[in-house]
Amino acid sequence: MKSFIDHLECTYCGKTYPENKPIRLCEACGKVLYARYDASAAKKAVKREAIKDRPASMWRYFEMLPVHNEANVVTLQEGWTPIIPAPKLAKAIGSQSVVIKDEGINPTGTFKVRGISAAISKANELGIKSVTMPTAGNAGGACSFYAARAGMGAYVFMPKDAPEANQKEVVHAGAKLTLVDGLIGEAGKQARKLAADSGFFDLSTLQEPYRAEGKKTMGYEIAEQMRWTFPDVIMYPTGGGTGIVGIWKAVFEMEALGWTDGKRPRIFAVQSENCQPIVNAFKKGAEFAEPWPTPHTIAHGMRVPSAIADYLILRVLRESKGGGVTVSDQEIIEHMRLVARTEGVFVCPEGAATAAGARKLIADGTISPDEKILLLNTGSGLKSLELL
Ligand SMILES: *Cc1c(COP(=O)(O)O)cnc(C)c1O
Ligand SMILES: [Zn+2]
Repeated sequence: MKSFIDHLECTYCGKTYPENKPIRLCEACGKVLYARYDASAAKKAVKREAIKDRPASMWRYFEMLPVHNEANVVTLQEGWTPIIPAPKLAKAIGSQSVVIKDEGINPTGTFKVRGISAAISKANELGIKSVTMPTAGNAGGACSFYAARAGMGAYVFMPKDAPEANQKEVVHAGAKLTLVDGLIGEAGKQARKLAADSGFFDLSTLQEPYRAEGKKTMGYEIAEQMRWTFPDVIMYPTGGGTGIVGIWKAVFEMEALGWTDGKRPRIFAVQSENCQPIVNAFKKGAEFAEPWPTPHTIAHGMRVPSAIADYLILRVLRESKGGGVTVSDQEIIEHMRLVARTEGVFVCPEGAATAAGARKLIADGTISPDEKILLLNTGSGLKSLELL
């Protein structure tokens, strides 16, 4: 198989860069870089029917992923997660149609492995030997296991109140862990300092181009699993926003490949009422988000007070005719229980937030009861036992 990656492009100023050497952000404006592909060549080379017999992992979309040589791929068979019908949950929240894409069955129990598999694989191809990252928790866990598999060094910075599961998994996989007195922003400062001092490659969310490439495969899978179309609504628990921008990128790539019918999903960002920089900026009509001053929520994946891709996330919400909604910690716990008891799915707090958020948007008329809703359960509830 052949990758049709062609170059990198700044999402803000449009400057382009070659993809054959390590780079993080746009050197001209400091904003986010996207991988760009030769979609018309890929369209000729691979028909969507040919994907059917590929491995049950996100690497089934190899032509639209950034690694050239298959031997460089670092994988634990992440992705190709099930979409589970949830009729009883739908009824409970006032909808006629709800499905859950269950990312909790991924290696390390969360969808973070998609981004990490893509980023570590590309780093591997580019000859990088050691990586560092700040994390709210799950990305650090994923990074540690994939670095172990790749034979790379990994150095993870995490807030000291991050979930126990995350602290332990990093150490267990043999990565170096520093617990930071502060939030993910402070962890980011320390990771950048290590990168500057020692040459570790910094894999911070959307501060290198390839984690978003891994997470975009959720968009490809949703379409393929729904017979090459999209649901009306996708509910996304939003932290740094890698997945939300990735899914929207996939929507356009698949249209260019001729794989989908042109229908686009409405995408909603779900955040905590105590950490809602994106939802707040969306409601104000702003281009960028102000950092949220006092972020606290039990859903650590959404405890991200400022996102470098704020302008990209906000564009997705507007262009897709979606929006934003916030939920309380109390509602998160209640919906973890509700999803477990109605559908038998052990969702993580962030996944539960999507159910609570959908309920509110149906109640206020933003989402109509007959729209088909996909809830993205981003991880397994088993990683948050301390909440129950
Ligand atoms: C990281 C994380 C999120 C937020 O994902 P982004 O793509 O960074 O917005 C949501 N849920 C869980 C479980 C996470 O680990
Ligand atoms: Zn730029």
